[in-house]
Amino acid sequence: SDNHTVQTINPATNEVLETYQLLSATEITNKIQDSETAFQDWKKTSFSERSALFKKLSLLLKDRKQELAILMTKEMGKPISQAKAEIEKCALLCDFYAEKAASFLSPQNKDFEGSEAYVRYDPLGVILAVMPWNFPFWQVFRFAVPSLMAGNVGILKHSSNSFGCGEAIASLFLEVGFPKNTFQNFLISGKQVKQVLENNHVKAATLTGSEAAGSSVAEIAGKNIKKTVLELGGNDPFIVLADADIQLAAQTAVKARTQNSGQSCIAGKRFIIVNEVYDEFVEEFKAEMSKLKMGNPMEETTDIGCQAREDLAKELDEQVQESIKKGAKLILGGKRNNAFYEPTILVDVKEGMPAFDDELFGPVASVIKAEGENHAIELANNSEFGLGSSVWTKDIQKAKKIASQIESGSVFINGMVKSDPRLPFGGIKKSGYGRELSINGIHEFVNIKTVWIS
Ligand code: NAP
Repeated sequence: SDNHTVQTINPATNEVLETYQLLSATEITNKIQDSETAFQDWKKTSFSERSALFKKLSLLLKDRKQELAILMTKEMGKPISQAKAEIEKCALLCDFYAEKAASFLSPQNKDFEGSEAYVRYDPLGVILAVMPWNFPFWQVFRFAVPSLMAGNVGILKHSSNSFGCGEAIASLFLEVGFPKNTFQNFLISGKQVKQVLENNHVKAATLTGSEAAGSSVAEIAGKNIKKTVLELGGNDPFIVLADADIQLAAQTAVKARTQNSGQSCIAGKRFIIVNEVYDEFVEEFKAEMSKLKMGNPMEETTDIGCQAREDLAKELDEQVQESIKKGAKLILGGKRNNAFYEPTILVDVKEGMPAFDDELFGPVASVIKAEGENHAIELANNSEFGLGSSVWTKDIQKAKKIASQIESGSVFINGMVKSDPRLPFGGIKKSGYGRELSINGIHEFVNIKTVWIS
């Protein structure tokens, strides 16, 4: 494709799906004006009007689950069963905020002796969302539902390989009756994001994706004094202590690492195992990982599809090969076939190898030996990322103490990291800042306004 068009390609088959024309600079300016115009009306709607629309959207998602899942799988290769689950989760999120937004945003009284004061939560205006291909529906809904419930309007810049999903989402909003331009999909490149961010009508931005993209968006937003929320990569530790249920830990470790064919920011990536149970864990882990079926993502029984693009699979392979060169031992997988990458286990992984230092965005597990609990915590925190983490031990008091010492946005004890509409989600360090979901997520893009009556 040239500079003005984008082609989407099915990574499993290399078939060209669609060619899209990118917006021109003038079209971008005009469409942002349309968003602003829509905002002036949308901000006046009541919570019950907004809720009614999101409840309809929830039903429509469930109705269209099959075809939307197929679109997702065609564009980025995730197993179809997981694509359907993703649509279900979006529907759940619509229902959650449809029910809760009014209470999350209800004015808070702060009465003092002799005077009345309260805090209200007013919308900001047009919010830009730059979103990735790994959960092409969920990531967008996680932004759009709370933002629109709060009275903002949204502009989406989806990743170039998920343009079809972006278009489909915008049509769903229109179909259930959201006023025109309350949610728009912009077919633009990463470079064109600058023009959108610099436009005065655009008040804030959220980005999920790589560190490079996040840093670029935050830089432009910072220069223009606009708030951002960033959800970037992760290199989540999965710590297994000597008294853990090793079998359950190993089974869960496989799920945590290989969900979405390994392309999840909150996937367990570094499996830090204390030496007493290291061999036992590795054996169970390998046995479980070997059961996975990699294949055609359109088939219901497929556990691992292909990677979202062939270049991403190549990059993953380079990280694996480089780690092996530096002393990691390959005990399973390690082969690439076009965009398909086998479930892979590297053991004896150490600091200084890409498999320890960098995010491996695919089905490759790094197993690391720890000399004890303190060493395990030290290894866990030895990362520039800080998104999720998981700790396995039967001693819950100890687990809670460890939870307080781990540098991450979440700690899951005897379970895998997952997002839930009821709980805040986000990271620290290079994993980004700000929170999505729950009451915290809906408070990110509002004007927290103090009103004091003397
Ligand atoms: P990416 O480049 O960060 O893409 C994410 C989004 O940012 C896309 O919409 C992309 O648009 C846009 N973008 C890219 N560069 C930009 C820029 N300079 N300014 C504004 N927007 C920009 O991700 P990727 O290259 O597809 O994936 C590479 C790595 O990103 C992965 O290996 C993984 O580490 C990380 N990643 C993380 C998540 C997550 O959930 N946290 C999700 C996906 C990827 P275009 O597609 O048009 O470039």
